[in-house]
Amino acid sequence: MLICIIGGGAAGFFAAIRAAEVNPTADVRILEQSKHVLSKVKVSGGGRCNVTNATFSIPEMLKAYPRGSRFIRHALHIFGPEQVMRWFSSRGVGLKTESFGHVFPISDDSQTVIDCLLTACRDRAVQIETQNAVRSIAYSKGLFELETSKGIICAEKVIVASGGSPKRSGFDWLEALGHRIVDPVPSLFTFNMPNERIRNYMGVSVPNATVRIRGTNFEYSGALLITHWGMSGPAVLKLSAYAARALNEMDYRFGIQVNWIAEKNQEVLRIKLEEHIQKEGLKQRKNSKLFPIPERLWLYLLERADLKPEQIWRETGSKGLSRLIEVLSNDTYKVEGKTTFKEEFVTCGGVSLDDIDPKTMQSKVIPGLYFAGEVMDIDAITGGYNFQAAWSTGYLAGSLLGSQKEYSNCT
Ligand SMILES: Cc1cc2nc3c(=O)[nH]c(=O)nc-3n(C[C@H](O)[C@H](O)[C@H](O)COP(=O)(O)OP(=O)(O)OC[C@H]3O[C@@H](n4cnc5c(N)ncnc54)[C@H](O)[C@@H]3O)c2cc1C
Repeated sequence: MLICIIGGGAAGFFAAIRAAEVNPTADVRILEQSKHVLSKVKVSGGGRCNVTNATFSIPEMLKAYPRGSRFIRHALHIFGPEQVMRWFSSRGVGLKTESFGHVFPISDDSQTVIDCLLTACRDRAVQIETQNAVRSIAYSKGLFELETSKGIICAEKVIVASGGSPKRSGFDWLEALGHRIVDPVPSLFTFNMPNERIRNYMGVSVPNATVRIRGTNFEYSGALLITHWGMSGPAVLKLSAYAARALNEMDYRFGIQVNWIAEKNQEVLRIKLEEHIQKEGLKQRKNSKLFPIPERLWLYLLERADLKPEQIWRETGSKGLSRLIEVLSNDTYKVEGKTTFKEEFVTCGGVSLDDIDPKTMQSKVIPGLYFAGEVMDIDAITGGYNFQAAWSTGYLAGSLLGSQKEYSNCT
């Protein structure tokens, strides 16, 4: 039996290794269009590869997937972060967990992960063919005919792990087989604000801000970083992922409301500020701030509320107080464009999950055809969750094709 895996990325490798393990007599072959395999693994995590996220509660983990969370639940139960960490550790890749559960190889070098995957392929006699792009697939009576740049290949089983594509045309060959395609749009980006003075405060960050897209229910809390082009940081990146499609429809021109402090209730905020004025009334506003806002930003926000930093708190009238409350909790800015975050991006969209069985990763349209990784309409926020999706779905697809064997052996 020939099993072809289309795409030599994280999902394709995991699918191939597992397929070879479960079907030891089969020929397993990875077809990769470019010169190099695992090129995204190489550059991932700033060259360190954020392999997964050490979130061991699956319901908690699912919150990181703006698209595909229900679909991927089964795959995560079968082969979740715990199993991924065990898989790599048992093959000599020491792992460490950093803040926010981000898991990296102890070597801080993505090549360690690549070497491990290449060794696992070699051990299982998986063949790797680079510079061989699959152009189309034809299916007839249980056999696949792959038209590739190096000729025709006939295979009994096929796993498509070709990754995301920014263009819809990148999915034409899968649509031609009868699969529905959810229009691809970018996810994970930062906000450009070319006409906002806030950019002068680049480098300043606040630990817990909330950013909301005006006129929508999309909002996210977390650290917020001011950059020379606008705003970034976890709050913005997560928001960009959850609102990826809505922001694309707005052509990346929209208003945002920023709450710079953890307090969201304006009445509670008013009481806190009034108490502060009572206590610190004789102090200058610039020397007596109430929230964990960096000094430079505090001065800027006072100015935005039309309050002089040198004035003492007691001279704050009720109108001034209302303006300050508004600026602290509902500061508005105009976003005009986006920028990729450290070159890290994923595709929102891809092969519709309605056409794939979440228990097996098998196409509901063509039997014997499986999917794994970002080619499907699944994507996550940053933090190792995207690779986790690739490992989990690759593992499941590789486990189940052509075999009725158990797949609970997750070592
Ligand atoms: C710069 C960057 C950094 C990232 N860092 C992280 C991180 O640290 N942690 C994390 O979790 N996620 C990270 N991500 C996201 C993560 O890399 C992807 O989600 C993941 O690589 C998806 O794996 P995949 O195998 O599905 O697709 P890919 O890695 O995109 O692999 C698909 C492969 O298929 C090949 N292919 C496509 N079409 C064909 C065809 N027709 N025939 C043959 N071959 C084909 C492609 O050339 C490619 O090699 C990062 C992404 C980027 C861009």
